[in-house]
Amino acid sequence: MKKKKIAIIGGGAAGLTAAIAAAKNNAEVTIYERLDRVGKKILATGNGRCNLSNINTQIINYHGKESNYIEKIFEFFGVQKTLSFFDDIGIYPYIDEEGKVYPYSLQASSVLDALRYEANRLGVKEFTNFKIMDLIKNKETFVMIDADGKKHITDAVIVCCGGKASSQLGSDGSGYKLFEKFGHKLIEPFPALVQLKLNADNLKRIKGVKIQGNIKALQNSKLIRQDSGEILFTDYGVSGPPVLQISRMTLENLNRNKKVFIQIDMFPEFERNQLYELLTNRFNKMKYKNIEESFNGLINKRLIPVILKEAEIMDTKIKCTKLNRKQVYKIIEVLKNWTFEVIGYYSWQQAQVTAGGIETKDFDRNTLESKKVKNLYAAGEVLDIDGDCGGFNLQWAWSSGYTAGYYASLQNR
Ligand SMILES: Cc1cc2nc3c(=O)[nH]c(=O)nc-3n(C[C@H](O)[C@H](O)[C@H](O)COP(=O)(O)OP(=O)(O)OC[C@H]3O[C@@H](n4cnc5c(N)ncnc54)[C@H](O)[C@@H]3O)c2cc1C
Repeated sequence: MKKKKIAIIGGGAAGLTAAIAAAKNNAEVTIYERLDRVGKKILATGNGRCNLSNINTQIINYHGKESNYIEKIFEFFGVQKTLSFFDDIGIYPYIDEEGKVYPYSLQASSVLDALRYEANRLGVKEFTNFKIMDLIKNKETFVMIDADGKKHITDAVIVCCGGKASSQLGSDGSGYKLFEKFGHKLIEPFPALVQLKLNADNLKRIKGVKIQGNIKALQNSKLIRQDSGEILFTDYGVSGPPVLQISRMTLENLNRNKKVFIQIDMFPEFERNQLYELLTNRFNKMKYKNIEESFNGLINKRLIPVILKEAEIMDTKIKCTKLNRKQVYKIIEVLKNWTFEVIGYYSWQQAQVTAGGIETKDFDRNTLESKKVKNLYAAGEVLDIDGDCGGFNLQWAWSSGYTAGYYASLQNR
């Protein structure tokens, strides 16, 4: 029987997995990638270590208009199947205490190498520096038009172009247009897993300071998301893993013209009264120090004057024991509840993931085939699904890529 010709537009995480799944099923597969090589984003993931999955993956880790959309796809190709898929191609898992999965080599390049080796072994063709600009459906085939106007004909297409985040790594939003022309709806994209811009005039002074703490996003005093870990102050706002984690919900509310505030707790393991005791004990032990000196060794030096100013302690040379109870509690309030208004995000270029994308309801929940166009499939971040930080986004890319590749390769579909 004649092999089914499948074109994969976009050679990222979803595209490579889709290609392997389809080629395993005896299809003739070609990847069209706009950059000079496939999988560039994979190399940047997990700080170069590739946090490729999370063994605690649940539906609540995913967001989008239909966040439960992923259910059937994860039943077909979930975390366990992903781990054995990678094991089969040589990627032995290292699982950390939070359930995040990495290659044991801790090198993202080993994941990309293994995927490319497998794709190559199965006969997948790779065309790089090929940006697909348009897609036309004829009776039984598709015609893809590249940036030079050349036409490429295929039986089925899987669009794996990603979203808009980190366009320097390939995903420039061009995948959306390929679907919109067929009547698929775009849910307005916005950056997720991104650094937050804050309304604060003291940020320049503390740029580069890192703290371990808890960060909460609040809308009208209601908690919308919180997370803990290393928080980095920058000249525009805050960055770091917990900031990325709360950014999606924060920006979703900001997009609805709601005011959102973040609160930073630098002493999450201390109750206010415990912190009061700790501070007053230190003051009594080091009576000879002024208030600024008394905080040395407890909080980052560059933060001390800024925190004292926030707590309205104007005379930083005052002896620490001279502070009254109310003033100490004011400092504690800043240490446990430093509040800033969020005014936006840093940039699309710095965002790790795109929230929004092509609406899922028009794709079959089992196969990822378009309900509008036969033999047209979508996988990965191009769809309106995004995950939390921690390996969930790549997991979605592998799961959806494999599913779309498998079903697209079936004859007579
Ligand atoms: C810095 C960074 C770190 C990250 N770390 C992690 C992590 O550790 N764990 C995790 O789970 N997730 C992580 N992510 C998110 C994760 O990488 C993405 O969610 C995932 O790669 C999406 O896969 P995808 O295949 O859908 O899209 P992409 O990986 O974006 O791939 C899309 C591909 O399509 C190509 N393309 C686009 N348009 C066209 C076109 N018109 N024609 C041809 N080709 C086209 C692009 O060049 C690109 O190669 C990170 C993201 C970034 C930016």
